Amino acid sequence: MGRILVTGGAGFVGSHLCDYLIERGHDVLCVDNLFSGSKDNIRHLLGYPYFEFIRHDITHPFFAEVDRIYHLACPASPVHYQHNPIKTIKTNVVGTINMLGLAKRVKARILLASTSEVYGNPTIHPQTENYWGNVNPIGIRSCYDEGKRVAETLMMDYHRQNHVEIKIVRIFNTYGPRMAVNDGRVISNFIVQALRGEDLTVYGDGAQTRSFCYISDLVEGVVRMADTDCFIGPVNLGNPHESTILEVAKAILSITKGSSKIVFRSLPPDDPERRCPDITLAKTILNWEPGVPLDDGLEKTIKYFIEKLKGKIF
Ligand code: NAD
Ligand code: UDP
Repeated sequence: MGRILVTGGAGFVGSHLCDYLIERGHDVLCVDNLFSGSKDNIRHLLGYPYFEFIRHDITHPFFAEVDRIYHLACPASPVHYQHNPIKTIKTNVVGTINMLGLAKRVKARILLASTSEVYGNPTIHPQTENYWGNVNPIGIRSCYDEGKRVAETLMMDYHRQNHVEIKIVRIFNTYGPRMAVNDGRVISNFIVQALRGEDLTVYGDGAQTRSFCYISDLVEGVVRMADTDCFIGPVNLGNPHESTILEVAKAILSITKGSSKIVFRSLPPDDPERRCPDITLAKTILNWEPGVPLDDGLEKTIKYFIEKLKGKIF
């Protein structure tokens, strides 16, 4: 089977992708600087003969002989990507150039984990791939959403100019086990708060929406896209079931049966009001659609965090 490089492989999505690829007999090289990822996410893989981990920052060139690249390295939580915005941009721009240079040299197919954030605060609903977005270029989210937009541009230009075989997936909010306790994204925040008996912090009035995809569904879609010939994307990957943030808070409280209250905090600047993927393209071309309902995914994720907070999972 092929030699596969996963950048960001010690992160939430990347570690599940590494599991998936190892289970299917691939030779996996995981590269991560451990900024928002953790060795704990891949500890169970470290003994496998076909799994290799290298601590490396992709803003520096990286040399390896591989057949395929899944390029995921980039902090995804607003708390993490806003911690050092310049580094976030460098990861998206310089890091993506480095990975495209590598793909070009070794003639590897490269898939970029882009994001629904390229649509910004969308003015059309649900979002289709041909929508160009409504993004603030000078705001506090710009390092991430404009960074990913440039990463997509770089992918397209390397494809047109250098014939690099590319794939672009636009991932919508994904959740599941191995999100970091301090990740800062909404599902992990609410679950950790509920399990600790703390108040659930809803930003704004909670009427803003997101559409949450369970991690196993997402990984399946990502690999299907990477395996497909003659389609470069971009393609939306996400669950089209849309929920308000207040509904999510209530769903988590009802499963955890804790005594926490919901409290309202100020809405961060540029927080998108609505987000929901149109996944017609993924259904048609990849024969993919998510199968895990929000309640089931939340149950599994809550189980994980119960063990994690007890210290039973590294
Ligand atoms: P994550 O923060 O858990 O994982 C990102 C990984 O990249 C981490 O392990 C981090 O240490 C690593 N990394 C960051 N900068 C790096 C650098 N300069 N060099 C090497 N490694 C670096 O986030 P995630 O949720 O797993 O997201 C993975 C990818 O998927 C990201 O590119 C993200 O933009 C994209 N994505 C995720 C979601 C989601 O909801 N999870 C949504 C849209 C897009
Ligand atoms: N959010 C919230 N409470 C939290 C964390 C996030 O109400 O403790 C809100 C946030 O303002 C946003 C939504 O939940 O409207 C999703 O936030 P997240 O950071 O998970 O993802 P993104 O905004 O990047 O989609």
